[in-house]
Amino acid sequence: MTLLSDATLVLPVGVVQGGWVAIAAGRITAVGGPERSRPRDPDVLDLGGCWVVPGFVDLHVHGGGGQSYGSGEPAAIGAISSLHRAHGTTSALASLATAPLDEMLRAAAALADVVEAGTLTGIHAEGPFLSPAHAGEQDPAAMLVPDADVLTQLINACRGHLRVLTLAPELPGALELVRRAVDRGVAVAVGHTGAGYERTLSAIDAGATLATHLFHAQPGPTQREPGAVGALLEHPDVVVQLIADGIHLHDALLAMVFRLCGAERVALVTDAMAAAGVGDGRYEVGSRQVEVRGGVALVEGTGAVAGSTLTQDAALRRAVDAGVPLLDVVTALSATPARAIGIGDRVGALVPGLAADLLVLGPGLEIDGVMVGGSWLRAPH
Ligand SMILES: [Zn+2]
Repeated sequence: MTLLSDATLVLPVGVVQGGWVAIAAGRITAVGGPERSRPRDPDVLDLGGCWVVPGFVDLHVHGGGGQSYGSGEPAAIGAISSLHRAHGTTSALASLATAPLDEMLRAAAALADVVEAGTLTGIHAEGPFLSPAHAGEQDPAAMLVPDADVLTQLINACRGHLRVLTLAPELPGALELVRRAVDRGVAVAVGHTGAGYERTLSAIDAGATLATHLFHAQPGPTQREPGAVGALLEHPDVVVQLIADGIHLHDALLAMVFRLCGAERVALVTDAMAAAGVGDGRYEVGSRQVEVRGGVALVEGTGAVAGSTLTQDAALRRAVDAGVPLLDVVTALSATPARAIGIGDRVGALVPGLAADLLVLGPGLEIDGVMVGGSWLRAPH
């Protein structure tokens, strides 16, 4: 058994100073504050007042460390996961960008192996049923109209590990596909879309529960057409993904969405591509060439923003600097995304019974320690 003591805990109910966390067999067994007597004689680690927060859950990440999940290369997949784990992401869905279907299926099969090995939580297919008119960083030539047979091929290639499918609801047959995906246990996210308000509400009625990088790769609301953004912001059953990098989304909008939706409906994702953690250069994202300069990733030839170079620890600091309360930011990085894909009973909070996936943060909210399943990946100083 391990006991972390003198920690500033970010619990679902609030921040507790002088707190402690007891860990055994990979799980959190008890949590308390200074008033509660803590277990005796364990292996005690005094954290000197450092923050302890749950490990982050990223619903949308394409790559990092110079590599993309879409490559399907086992060594690349491992390198990406290690990079993001070092930045606090202890659970992640590997996102597949839209690419020719046979490439997506091959990469999906390779990712399913990694999920089964326990390194990844699941797979997010960003397409191929997206709007070519709102392609953003995705390849419009590889986009397909909704097709039940293609969906079945994707689900089968992922061997039950497809957790999220991003689609554009205005495409013909999209609503039927939402129902099919949800029936097969796949959460549907609305994204890369030009759908209007009514059509988006129909997709939510059909079972869509997520918004892929809200505001990005979709038209903004106007006074006469609230659009997909309006419907997704409004509906209480929808969790909206935000990319808190100051490039995809203005800090004022970031803070506004937290106030409007509450942290229970916001998931802070990275949408990170290969350049996360390695810096400027040229990279392949799906079948597109991307150039990163000064941390901004742009699709060559189109100038579209091509995913981020963000990590979730940087998203935490950015959102706090934007004025979002720390408790809300932590919720949007852990409990909310975990609940959105049905793993909230396993990870996402400092609660007895859940996996001991947690982070130790220093006074500037920088990562000082990363624990996964009760073992230190990086022990705190
Ligand atoms: Zn996207």
